[in-house]
Amino acid sequence: MLREKTAILAHLKKLREGDPVQLWRLVSVTLGSIVGMAAAIAVVPGAATAPIATEIVVEQLGTPPVSISRNDSRPFIREDRIRSGESLAGALRRLGLSDSWIAAQANAPRIMKDLAGTFRPGALITVASTAEGGLHSASLTIPGSDNTYVLEAQDGKLQVAQKTLALESRVHMQSGVIQSSLFAAMDSAGLPDSVAEELAKIFGDDIDFHTDLKKGDRFSVIYEVLYHQGRAIRAGRILAAEFINQGAHHSAYRFTNQDGSQDYYNRDGKSRKEGFLRSPLEFSRVSSGFSMRLHPVLGIWREHKGVDYAAPQGTAVKATSDGAVEFVGQQNGYGNFIILSHGNKYTTAYGHLSGFARGLKPGSHVAQGETIGYVGSTGWATGPHLHYEFRINNIQQDPLKVSLPDSMPLSGSSLTNFHNQTAPLMARLGQLQQSKTAILD
Ligand SMILES: [Zn+2]
Repeated sequence: MLREKTAILAHLKKLREGDPVQLWRLVSVTLGSIVGMAAAIAVVPGAATAPIATEIVVEQLGTPPVSISRNDSRPFIREDRIRSGESLAGALRRLGLSDSWIAAQANAPRIMKDLAGTFRPGALITVASTAEGGLHSASLTIPGSDNTYVLEAQDGKLQVAQKTLALESRVHMQSGVIQSSLFAAMDSAGLPDSVAEELAKIFGDDIDFHTDLKKGDRFSVIYEVLYHQGRAIRAGRILAAEFINQGAHHSAYRFTNQDGSQDYYNRDGKSRKEGFLRSPLEFSRVSSGFSMRLHPVLGIWREHKGVDYAAPQGTAVKATSDGAVEFVGQQNGYGNFIILSHGNKYTTAYGHLSGFARGLKPGSHVAQGETIGYVGSTGWATGPHLHYEFRINNIQQDPLKVSLPDSMPLSGSSLTNFHNQTAPLMARLGQLQQSKTAILD
């Protein structure tokens, strides 16, 4: 299923590459929809609307006379997006630099070449030029990136410096109705790619986006957009989202725990995270299950108390749940070995590793999905594979069959904090759903 999801995302990417959608345009659609929503709320269905008298007032606004003398040293500022197929030199020329000035910079070709890899059509370029077509300064901002490149001429040489933009976070809301596919709906709702992908990831455990979607399914989402000087630079994280699939209601609210970690929970404060991942590897196949088998090295029949995952040497091995390192080191047949303790009675173990994640030591805390080591063939192993054990009260269970425990739900003061943090988001999502329903019905 994971692979299918990746395929959907890849397909989405491909669709979009043909027509580079710019974040600023998406943002204007988003704002437009919110305005539309507000209008929909304001009009009570069936209410009689009296014609409103309007009057047009024409007023002449005086413009101050402007004259620029040739000696004026103030720069001319022009700003535009890099066009498809345009070179950086071409854009600089279009925005006011003279050919002769560009040609006079000995190091210009090298700098243009260095920058060529960093910009693409849609990058915002601002050029401040002198009256003679010389460079005062120029900046190049890449969509979706926090970096800007500043070009300046110093002592007759072109200089370039990379700067990090100071970003300000704003909250956007959007909702959509499924007509054909999730991504078609997300596209028409104007969700940035990264938000669409995160939404699919968040609800991927509840909804198989290939087979479960029905026409009329709905989603609403509240997410951050990061701005620099009033301009949207890139989308941030999803703060809250709801998805109604075939009448079933799924929700995800981002909550900052007391230890500062952030996770998604449903409306009732139950973590959306599985207690344990089913597999410690992203892509792998089970090469040997939990049963009796002929031991490949010892050549005798013995019980196999774990699951072997065949995977290339060096594949990242992930902690299947939040926990603490109980053991990290060598243990005879297991080779390089890690045991994680997950509180109460649960431990997981990972064997035959080629190496450990840097800094991993007994007592280290690890998060679910964090890389703890790498697939190898140390100990009694004929080839690279991961030996994985899931233990309850120190007795190995079949991780492919045992019913894995849920994450602990929030309780006590954490639950109170959760409700305080999420109540405004829930209210906004509720409003968004209602207004969309009103427009549709
Ligand atoms: Zn094994």
